[in-house]
Amino acid sequence: MSSSLHYFDYAATTPADPRVITSMVQCLGIDGVFANPASTSHPAGMQARNLVENARAEVARLIGALPDEIVWTSGATESNNLALKGFADSAGRPAHIVTSRLEHKAILDTVASLESRGWAVSYADPDRNGAITVEAIAKALRPGTAIVSLMLVNNEIGTLTDIAAISAIVHSAGALLHVDAAQALGKTPIDVNASGIDLMSISAHKAYGPKGIGALYVSSAVAQRLAPQMHGGGHERGLRSGTLATHQIVGMGAACAIAHEEMNSDTRRIAKLGERLLAGVLPLERVRQNARDGLRIPHTLSLTIDHPGFFPFMLVGDLAVSSTSACNSAAGTPSHVLSAIGLSDQASARTIRLSLGRFTTEEDIDHAITCIRQVVEQCKPRVAAVQASASV
Ligand SMILES: *Cc1c(COP(=O)(O)O)cnc(C)c1O
Repeated sequence: MSSSLHYFDYAATTPADPRVITSMVQCLGIDGVFANPASTSHPAGMQARNLVENARAEVARLIGALPDEIVWTSGATESNNLALKGFADSAGRPAHIVTSRLEHKAILDTVASLESRGWAVSYADPDRNGAITVEAIAKALRPGTAIVSLMLVNNEIGTLTDIAAISAIVHSAGALLHVDAAQALGKTPIDVNASGIDLMSISAHKAYGPKGIGALYVSSAVAQRLAPQMHGGGHERGLRSGTLATHQIVGMGAACAIAHEEMNSDTRRIAKLGERLLAGVLPLERVRQNARDGLRIPHTLSLTIDHPGFFPFMLVGDLAVSSTSACNSAAGTPSHVLSAIGLSDQASARTIRLSLGRFTTEEDIDHAITCIRQVVEQCKPRVAAVQASASV
C-alpha cells in the first residue's frame, strides 16, 4: 500500500495478505497447479483437488465446521442468495421469514425477492445500542416461520449479534437459522455448532483473501433442504455447479489459516488503535460514536460529526473512509442501518465509518485524528452562527 494512503475502509474490502498472494500465484501458470480439480484421472488434477480440499479444511476449521459442510461460492452475496432462495425453492410453498432492519443489501434484496414470490417477511428492530435482541426475535417468530436470517457483525456500526442465544428460540420455533458472517470472519471467533447455526455466509475479501470467492456453510443436518441456484456439472455435491477456481479457493484457505493463527493478536492490536482514535476525537465537540454501548467488534467505528457544514467528502481527500457502507455510498441515500438505530437523516449524512485492519498503523490513527480535528475546527464558526441565530 502506498504510504500516503491512509486506508480506513477495511469493512468494504481488505488488501490480500502477501502470504495469500504467494499461495495464489502458484495455481495459475503452466508450471503451477492450474489443472482442473475435477480432472482426477491424472496427477495434475489430483494435485489441484488436494489444494482445494486442504483449503476447504482450513475454512472449516476456522468456523468449527466439517470440511464437507463448506460449499464454495463467489462471495457472501451469492452465499446469501443460495441460502435463502435455495431454502425457499426446496420448501416448495411460501412461508414466513424473519430478518432485521440492520441487514446488508445482499440479504434485504434477496428477502424482497422471496416476498415477491409470496413469502411473508418480518423485520426485527434493533435496540438503542444497535443490537438485535432475543426478545426482538421472539416477538417476530410466529407459527409458520421457516427461516430466520441475521448478520453476525454489522458492516456499518460493528455491532455483534448474540447468535447463540437467538438460535435456541429459532430452533424451538421449528425454524432454521441463517447467518451472514461476512463482517465477522477472521475478526471474532465463530463456532457454528456452539452457536447453533444451520447456514452461514462468508467471504474471503473481507478477511485478507481475494475478491470473488466465498463459501456457504451448510450444516450436514440441513443439506437436503437446499435447492441449487446454479445448475451444471454437479460440483459441490450438486449445490453449486461450476469449475472450481483453484487460485481463489487456495487464497481463501490461506487467509483462513492465517486468521486462525493471528486473529486474537490482530484483534487486540486493532482494539488498542481504535481506543487511541476514539480518545483523540470523542472529546471534540459534537463528535459521537454510534452504538458505543452495544456488544461490538473493535474494528469498525461509526462516528457522527454533528456540525452544520460537515460533509464526509471533507475527509476523503486525506482518509479513505466511507460515508456509510460502500453500497449506500453508491446509492446516495441515508443509511437504513443508521435510521434503524435512531439517527435522523441529517445526523446520518454527517456520519463516517472508519474501519481498521491488519495493516493499520499508529501513524494512520494519528493522521485520522489530525484530519478530524481540522474539519471540526473548520466547522466551528458555522456552529456558532447557527447557535446565535437560534438564540435570537
Ligand atoms: C461485504 C458483505 C456482503 C457481500 O459480500 P461479497 O463477498 O462482496 O459478495 C454481504 N454481507 C455483508 C454483511 C457484507 O459486509
